Amino acid sequence: SLANRLQATFDRLRGKGKVTEDDVNEMMREVRLALLEADVNFKVVKEFIAKVKERAIGQEVLKSLTPGQQVIKVVNDELTQLMGGEQSKIALASKAPTVVMMVGLQGAGKTTTTGKLAKYLQKQNRRPLLVACDIYRPAAIKQLQVLGEQLKVPVFSLGDQVSPVEIANQAIEQAKAEHNDYVLIDTAGRLHIDEKLMDELKDIRATVNPHEILLVVDAMTGQDAVNVAESFNQQLELSGVVLTKLDGDTRGGAALSVKAVTGKPIKFAGMGEKMDALEPFHPERMASRILGMGDVLTLIEKAQANVDQDKAKELERKMRKAEFTFEDFLEQMAQVRKLGPLDDLLGMLPGMNKVKGMKDLKVDEKALNRVEAIVKSMTKEEKQNPELLKTTSRKRRIAHGSGTSIQEVNRFIKQFEEMRKMMKQFTKMTDQAKKKKGKG
Ligand code: GDP
Ligand code: MG
Repeated sequence: SLANRLQATFDRLRGKGKVTEDDVNEMMREVRLALLEADVNFKVVKEFIAKVKERAIGQEVLKSLTPGQQVIKVVNDELTQLMGGEQSKIALASKAPTVVMMVGLQGAGKTTTTGKLAKYLQKQNRRPLLVACDIYRPAAIKQLQVLGEQLKVPVFSLGDQVSPVEIANQAIEQAKAEHNDYVLIDTAGRLHIDEKLMDELKDIRATVNPHEILLVVDAMTGQDAVNVAESFNQQLELSGVVLTKLDGDTRGGAALSVKAVTGKPIKFAGMGEKMDALEPFHPERMASRILGMGDVLTLIEKAQANVDQDKAKELERKMRKAEFTFEDFLEQMAQVRKLGPLDDLLGMLPGMNKVKGMKDLKVDEKALNRVEAIVKSMTKEEKQNPELLKTTSRKRRIAHGSGTSIQEVNRFIKQFEEMRKMMKQFTKMTDQAKKKKGKG
């Protein structure tokens, strides 16, 4: 995979004191191959590599990082830049209603995303109106109505005998009358781009003058997504893109190229079929995901800014010697809770997305409380010596004491061991950074 490949090269570089031009060239060969394999557009890759090379070989040398980390940082920065830098927001018209037109190929996720956007807007106390303009696909109107019912959002439909242009037009009149501040128009798609589809979309656009035209693309379609985005943008002048199905096993190449090729920002990411599975698109997170590294740098920055320095030193010593205990774990949890939302932090841990089963781990506070209960049900000796927890009788006692199950206790201990291993790797990296600093 892209991640493994880069990882191997990064690891090789990590042991070095200085990055030479040859090193960078070697790394960039890997990055180029990996990006092409991830279906990133050829031209985009070429420009990207040139930019990274220039910066990596150039004068931007951060003393606190190892050479490998430096290159990672440059690659990460440039990837983020490529996907649009800052995340963008949905338009708000100065005079209501704000009209949003959803376009894209069949099956891309337009109707689903229309529902998700309605929910997203609802949460901001907006009053969206959904408009059923896909009159061709059987049951498309029904699909939107079902979503509307589920979300308690009104759906405007005139059946499948009235033209989409007319439906859209009347919908806006109704929105004005009913004081809906957003009108979300769900349009028809085809399996391929064709003139008839584009003409209809152009007609709707000319009639309703949308404030946003959002292209919905399926991230799993890779290079095709880029071609689709390019021609929709040429014909309709998009305002942004929604990338769906990012919850799947996609290689993310589409995310990289879409912005570069169209110049239009990716505004949202679809992360599942449910109505709440829509997230504002974070270029930085996507870059990290593509690199498969976890956001190491952000984590380091956050940790340095927030964790008490002395405690950090003591902790580091323990981590290095793998003396980290359950007691330390409890204390760390208290520290970590101070840092911010926990899923954010966990996502930043290097290797977290590689640990089996951890990828989709959503941290909920309840689960954490249970973990805390488990640790608190250990004896003082057990807390200080994780090795003691090999016997079933101890585990049973802890499960009983914490109101959990043996399975849960086992699972936690296993995760704890994984964490210890990761910490050891992590300290190896910071060691390298220190050595570098020492030499000046
Ligand atoms: P449309 O033809 O563009 O309107 O596409 P639909 O909204 O009907 O979606 C097509 C299929 O993709 C449906 O089965 C959706 O549940 C699914 N889908 C849409 N968005 C996502 C997403 O972000 N993740 C996943 N896993 N499935 C999605
Ligand atoms: Mg649809």
